[in-house]
Amino acid sequence: KALKTRIESINQETCEPGEENSFFICDLGELEKLYINWQKELPMVKPYYAVKCNPNPKILLKLKELGLNFDCASKSEIETILSMGVDPSRIIYANPCKASSFVRYAQDKKVMKSTFDNVDELYKIKKFHPDSELLIRISTDDSTAQCRLSTKYGCDLADVESLLEKVKELQLNLVGVAFHVGSGACDFTSIHTAVKDSKFVFNKAKEMNLPELKYLDIGGGFQFETFSESTKTVRVALDEFFKEEIKTKKIEVLAEPGRYFASTALTLASHVIAKRTIADNESMLYTNDGVYGNMNCILFDHQEPVPRILYHNNDFKYYEFDSTSKSLPVIGGQKKYPQKVSIWGPTCDGLDCITKEYYLKYNLEVGDWLYFPNLGAYSSTAATTFNGFQQHSDFIYINSIEDKLL
Ligand code: PLP
Repeated sequence: KALKTRIESINQETCEPGEENSFFICDLGELEKLYINWQKELPMVKPYYAVKCNPNPKILLKLKELGLNFDCASKSEIETILSMGVDPSRIIYANPCKASSFVRYAQDKKVMKSTFDNVDELYKIKKFHPDSELLIRISTDDSTAQCRLSTKYGCDLADVESLLEKVKELQLNLVGVAFHVGSGACDFTSIHTAVKDSKFVFNKAKEMNLPELKYLDIGGGFQFETFSESTKTVRVALDEFFKEEIKTKKIEVLAEPGRYFASTALTLASHVIAKRTIADNESMLYTNDGVYGNMNCILFDHQEPVPRILYHNNDFKYYEFDSTSKSLPVIGGQKKYPQKVSIWGPTCDGLDCITKEYYLKYNLEVGDWLYFPNLGAYSSTAATTFNGFQQHSDFIYINSIEDKLL
């Protein structure tokens, strides 16, 4: 109904420039369902939502209400979360390499939990936030992840001892271990190895007479599609290496999920603004969102947004989607949709291509709409205004649990 009102109110002949802009449908009920599922699969792990993934205020508020904590990467993210009335103890400043001014800000705002992975950062923390509660971030094998992080962050196990020596020497407050197996992780054996490596650090700290560590931060990397598999690995690994500590509440386990919460909650609807006919059944479609806008995730996050037809011939067609259509052209024996298209964003750059080859059921025209499901993670957060296209990321909010428009 919300879609109908929105789309049918746009008159091609008379609408103001921008009224036909792309927009998101954001399902706050989906966040609730995802959290319930999280609690079911990982009841012993407290999620700190990674704000960077999608800092939409209504999403943040909903997650706050559900009881999630927050992982912030910068001063501005901390500011956003604090301005929502969240207590600083519910924030982890999970960026191992921070600007000095941001560290001072964290100290001023009493954000205590933070990560580090190198000696230089320890000197900075000693100077600007000496009481900070530090988690040492260790590297992981993230070679099969969609977005690698350990190429940039995390210390080798071989360097742990010297880092802990430095912590001791500077009389800093080490409270735990953190890791991240890469965003969009698909090899879950790396979770098992990372939990095992964390145990090595816990033991090393004990050997070196540092105060007992209290936190294990298992990072992000979770996705809806593989959640039951990845969380099973987490449970098995925690049971193998930290069973007693968890049972006796000697340690708290936390995580920094971003994609798991944001991805499936948002769908992007985008308008076909131009078309170049190549042949009867082949065309190039230009939509008003693309690689420089909300689909920057194609470049930065290696996503492949799947186009579906939302509106064609003055009618809604989204119910006709066949989820196998993406692979139809290459699977022998299956019906192939007749319209071959490439889909492009609105900027003048040839890089601004959403998909080079796709097969649609209908021959779309200017004025039709496409939609792209599961586009909430690392999308609007990094959109640019390149070529003067304002990406205001307009949102329609729904709650699928209460079946209502918000
Ligand atoms: N924590 C840190 C430190 C990160 O860098 C990221 C993503 O880059 C996340 C959490 C969120 O990861 P994901 O979206 O894969 O859950």
